[in-house]
Amino acid sequence: MGDLGHPVDISTVPFAQRPIIILGAGIIGCAAARQLLLNGFPVVLVAEYLPGDQSIFYASAWAGAAWHAAGGISPEYRYFQAITHRHLLKMAQEDPESGVCIVDTREYLEDPPTENSAIWGKTVVSKFRDLQPGEYPPNFSCGWAYDTLVTDPTRHMPYLGKQIKALGGQFIRKRVESLQELYAMFPESSIFINASGIGSKTLSDVQDEKCFPERGQNVFLRTDNCQTMYFRNGKEYTYVIPRPFSKGVVLGGVKQSDNLSPEVDMDIARDEIARAHRLAPEIVPEYPPEDALDHIIGIRPSRKGGFRLESEKVGNRIVLSAYGFGGGGYAFSYGVADALAKMVETAERENVIL
Ligand SMILES: Cc1cc2nc3c(=O)[nH]c(=O)nc-3n(C[C@H](O)[C@H](O)[C@H](O)COP(=O)(O)OP(=O)(O)OC[C@H]3O[C@@H](n4cnc5c(N)ncnc54)[C@H](O)[C@@H]3O)c2cc1C
Repeated sequence: MGDLGHPVDISTVPFAQRPIIILGAGIIGCAAARQLLLNGFPVVLVAEYLPGDQSIFYASAWAGAAWHAAGGISPEYRYFQAITHRHLLKMAQEDPESGVCIVDTREYLEDPPTENSAIWGKTVVSKFRDLQPGEYPPNFSCGWAYDTLVTDPTRHMPYLGKQIKALGGQFIRKRVESLQELYAMFPESSIFINASGIGSKTLSDVQDEKCFPERGQNVFLRTDNCQTMYFRNGKEYTYVIPRPFSKGVVLGGVKQSDNLSPEVDMDIARDEIARAHRLAPEIVPEYPPEDALDHIIGIRPSRKGGFRLESEKVGNRIVLSAYGFGGGGYAFSYGVADALAKMVETAERENVIL
């Protein structure tokens, strides 16, 4: 509605001045908002959970979050990760408030890498080198050392929230039951971005059946020895992710499909500590003191077949879908934001260059 309560005649509002509406304020919605604001678009984010919140259904509060090259993905998706690395590196170098920092990594592989494996990441990370026999444990076939980036979500989400507000973005805390509800709230807008994570399973006009919740539970161990990441790549999915700004390391991991329990499962926690101890005994003691431990529980917004990133016309609106990032939302975030900004600009071009 216009200022006087009259319906807005959308055709009189120039395209670039119609607010872009983003449903969801996790890492995907916020990274997209930041990029669009930097490109000059007005942006409104509508979400039940906002930066700084701690619901288990707000995955972005709980991620590790390490930049690790994903295996088995297309060249286009690899490039999303490379773009993300570029943005995160700049934040690590220039802005400690971002919670992003550079850490030394040791990655051990059970089997030699195939062409389709995480090996492609060597062109993106710094100081990559093959470890020599004797530098990795004897039960592995090879290992790599390199510098990568870790993002402390307890700092990064509030930082992004602050940046978005400083750039003129607006947050509205609200749960909606459908995208239709959102269209009705913003009749003057043409572009809507659905970055609702696991919400896309239940929104009445989305109900994406490929979406499923995938529970994660990590142990946070308080320690000053938090500069090196360890990653076991193969049959066992074990990592020790340093969080220097929070003075500790995150031990994991586990993936439990369709489990929504907010309770700490101590069997999982004990198993993660044991696996992390085998991987990095110099950081993780076999029996760490109880008062040095916290537990992290979050629901990954996973999707069978991988994330959805596409543009579709719905009546006279354009809806961009960006959800289903599972365990990789941080690693893909700024690349996906860049792709969404380009999709918005394509729509702008089609609207203004007739
Ligand atoms: C334990 C754990 C460890 C992880 N480690 C890593 C890692 O090392 N690296 C990595 O890249 N990723 C990691 N991840 C994954 C990462 O956290 C997610 O991929 C990412 O946070 C997903 O972001 P998102 O913005 O899509 O979703 P979310 O952060 O879940 O945000 C969804 C947003 O949509 C809103 N929303 C949903 N439905 C509605 C509705 N109906 N109405 C209003 N608002 C709605 C929510 O309120 C929220 O604001 C990890 C996850 C977990 C749980």
